[in-house]
Amino acid sequence: MSPVNLMDLGPQAMTEFFAQWGEKPFRTQQMLQWIHQRGVIDVDLMTDLSKSLRTLLKEHTVTQPPKVLLDKPSKDGTHKWLIEVAGGGCVETVYIPEPGRGTLCVSSQVGCMLTCTFCSTGTQGFQRNLSVSEIIGQVWTAVRRLSKRQGHHDRHITNVVMMGMGEPLLNFDHVVPAMELMLHDFSYGLSRRRVTLSTSGVVPGILELAKRLPVSLALSLHAPTDALRDELVPINKKYPLKILLEACQEYLKVDPHKSITMEYVMLQEVNDTPECAQQLAELLKDIACKINLIPFNPFPKTRYQRSSNNRIHAFQRALVEAGYTTTIRKTRGEDIDAACGQLVGTVKDKTTRQAKFKATPE
Ligand code: SF4
Repeated sequence: MSPVNLMDLGPQAMTEFFAQWGEKPFRTQQMLQWIHQRGVIDVDLMTDLSKSLRTLLKEHTVTQPPKVLLDKPSKDGTHKWLIEVAGGGCVETVYIPEPGRGTLCVSSQVGCMLTCTFCSTGTQGFQRNLSVSEIIGQVWTAVRRLSKRQGHHDRHITNVVMMGMGEPLLNFDHVVPAMELMLHDFSYGLSRRRVTLSTSGVVPGILELAKRLPVSLALSLHAPTDALRDELVPINKKYPLKILLEACQEYLKVDPHKSITMEYVMLQEVNDTPECAQQLAELLKDIACKINLIPFNPFPKTRYQRSSNNRIHAFQRALVEAGYTTTIRKTRGEDIDAACGQLVGTVKDKTTRQAKFKATPE
């Protein structure tokens, strides 16, 4: 039987694991502190565990964070890691520092099956769900690597957004324990307000999350009508706007923010017209929300263009006049392909090119 990776265990699974050896629940606290707070993965260094327990752990477990394939700092302070996962795939993790906060954007799947047409990840196909260790391992890795960077002692993670590659609610059983670790006092200790799950609109998952672990919610909305959203976010055909917004209303009953962030990517002459702004204002009138406009980050072979600054600002003005708090996301890390899925896309392109060159006889 292959050894258990202790990083795959959320708080509850860790307690159950130790219980089978007759160990008390406080072992969970000790182990979480060693692994997630102190970053220690060598059992021999876990000095408050008995020698016999350490021997058992060495025989039956490993503590294995994922490997970092690429470590890319950007000129503007954004930092991106390409994380290798078992089976040969890779995912991206991005750190975005801002005054008074540091946000880590975490991936939940290798690729994505939802094929949103404006998304680089959506064009790369789906490989598999990430395990708990591969999700929380992104946080573990970022915490360690950021604290090691000399001269950057102020860099720490205050917020986590499940907004990287993949649809987190389609990997519910691994995302929830990983987020429990993000919140746990003996692990990363973040508040529910500072952990955000971003979904493209998987309605059953939204309702289940409300019951299991109500963290802050962001919705990749991107269109004000079903006709346009069917095209941009195809899962809309399964869960159209009416039932999606009803699920949002349900979620708001438990949302720690009591407000949902509506993400809206700005695509020139696709969803950025004055009419779209009006339709959006009308659509959201009964939902406590703020709107985040995201200038599109073009990627190779995309059919879309980023809306001009004038159009983005006009769109924002229309929404503000309609009473919505509306922000425009700053574009960060463009020199390191920081938008979701772009770095993997670039590496894949290069790999394909290299393979092609190697295969070509000289
Ligand atoms: S936007 Fe999110 S859900 Fe849509 S394809 Fe990209 S990663 Fe998947």
